[in-house]
Amino acid sequence: MNLKALLSAALISVGLLVSSAATNIYASPSLDSLTVSAASLELPAVPEAGAPAALRPPLKAVPALNAYFISVGQGDAEYIELPNGKNVLIDGGPNPNAPLAAFLTQHNVTKLDYVVLTHPHLDHYAGLDYVFSHVKVENFYDTREDNTGAAGAKAIRNKIAALGVNVIYPAAGDNLDWDPAEVQVKVLNTCSNAGGSNSGPVLNNCSIVLKVTYQNTSILYTGDMQFDTEAALISAYGSQLQSDVLKVGHHGSNTATSPAFLNMVKPKYAYIEVGANNTFAFPAASTLANLQAAGAAIYRTDMGGTQEFRIGGN
Ligand SMILES: [Zn+2]
Repeated sequence: MNLKALLSAALISVGLLVSSAATNIYASPSLDSLTVSAASLELPAVPEAGAPAALRPPLKAVPALNAYFISVGQGDAEYIELPNGKNVLIDGGPNPNAPLAAFLTQHNVTKLDYVVLTHPHLDHYAGLDYVFSHVKVENFYDTREDNTGAAGAKAIRNKIAALGVNVIYPAAGDNLDWDPAEVQVKVLNTCSNAGGSNSGPVLNNCSIVLKVTYQNTSILYTGDMQFDTEAALISAYGSQLQSDVLKVGHHGSNTATSPAFLNMVKPKYAYIEVGANNTFAFPAASTLANLQAAGAAIYRTDMGGTQEFRIGGN
């Protein structure tokens, strides 16, 4: 057993790395007391016997999909590094500057190929103001739903239009060509017809919902969709909703994540984007109980900070 295999075995033994014949996946620790992050372990090169150093082929990085659930307080922001080198930001969190800014700086993000606003609520769009002021964005995915109570939502959309960014309003059922050879990105829900409301639940149920699949491993991004949209997705997609990873809908509120929905998704890992001591008392105890009953390991940004889930890689 070489050093890399030894390290893998050690990580498997503490539950950080799950190895299968087809895919390596890795979930950062959150709710336990582990102090060593697997992501921070640098694997030293293993010399090949017999070949002089100059003749050895350079070590090639194995492609991976890195998914981050960014700790932005009471709101949503998720970042994806695709295997083809392109990148995605889904929502910007509630704060126009830190902490999303710190994350983007830390990850050397100077351009974004794809930015998604799941729905026009402040805890999802406010941080996009920073993004569109400091980062070159190629494509912006939006709903056609107007938040009639929010001048800020109009302002950010106007800013994006003025910048000349390519704006796309996907329809449910669309497949997005973000990494067409390797990654399937399917739009399960959105509001692609012009509409408007100041009702929280109506806007939440307009959320762009995406199922991202790489190497037979899927992540379901739900925005803030609630029971109504979950029921519609069960009718439309049934067991095709199955996903290894669930970005839990609406910050773990008691208006989302029904047992019937979980019974279709069957998540192994559940990520809750939620602020510490938030005024909504998210996540709801009933949602946590539903997730536990479904057998999902729960990760929370309020307790563990930014979370990482990796598919593939070395
Ligand atoms: Zn929200």
